[in-house]
Amino acid sequence: MTPKEFNNIIDKLPTTPRLPILFVGHGNPMNAIEDNIYSRAWKQLEFQLPKPKAILSISAHWLSSDTSVHISKKPRTIHDFWGFPDELYKIEYPCPGAPDFAMATQEIVNKTTVLKDVEWGLDHGTWSVLHHMYPNAEIPVYQLSINLTKTTLWHYELAKELAPLREKGVLIMGSGNIVHNLSRLAWEPNATPYDWAEEFDQQSKKLIIEENHRSLIEYEKLGPAAKLAIPTPDHYWPLIYVLGLQKKNESVSFPIEGIALGSVGMRTVLIGESLDSARRNG
Ligand code: ZN
Repeated sequence: MTPKEFNNIIDKLPTTPRLPILFVGHGNPMNAIEDNIYSRAWKQLEFQLPKPKAILSISAHWLSSDTSVHISKKPRTIHDFWGFPDELYKIEYPCPGAPDFAMATQEIVNKTTVLKDVEWGLDHGTWSVLHHMYPNAEIPVYQLSINLTKTTLWHYELAKELAPLREKGVLIMGSGNIVHNLSRLAWEPNATPYDWAEEFDQQSKKLIIEENHRSLIEYEKLGPAAKLAIPTPDHYWPLIYVLGLQKKNESVSFPIEGIALGSVGMRTVLIGESLDSARRNG
């Protein structure tokens, strides 16, 4: 491949109306097989979104010391959890990969060198949600890793460079949890949320509505509830990618809300025009 051809991958992909962007709170891996309020709501997302040509997932469960994009034609289903029922380990999500879109992604990022990866596949941050959202597994899916050595602001800025993919039919999905403190888990289905979990869930919702991205990037300054909600940034950073991709005044909605297991926020953030809003407006 000559350098000129390499620079043209993105341009060769047909242009589409701009797709919305989605942050999903994935929570407990058991959501992949349970019929509950979250998995039922994930099933509905398919009907709220225009059908994408490919899905780029930025999952809290692919952390690396670089930025890698998975390019295989047949990504494997990774069962990256321990001590769960056999049924969960038997789930496969046999979707195609998206090598063309992955190479286009590599091409459009200037902030860092994006490495090609053939080892990873789809971790449960991605497939536990897509298994409900697109049960036929016909839409190609690929993942971008999260560089653990970088700052929150760096991830926000990197996300902005991914914006052209939205006009190439790619649904960019961050998968994590805004509130995520596993050391405080209350392992029962109807556990009462901790006060600090509720508080930060509401505080972050308000800041998202206000498009106050600066405060969300500098979450360490938001006080004790934020500290307890985000003990480590891995599950929070996928939200930062989605915020980085928001255009000025693009609409925001929250198709799913709630706190599971006392300390895991299940809030989903949908930015941009959903099919529902398109119907209302047109
Ligand atoms: Zn997780």
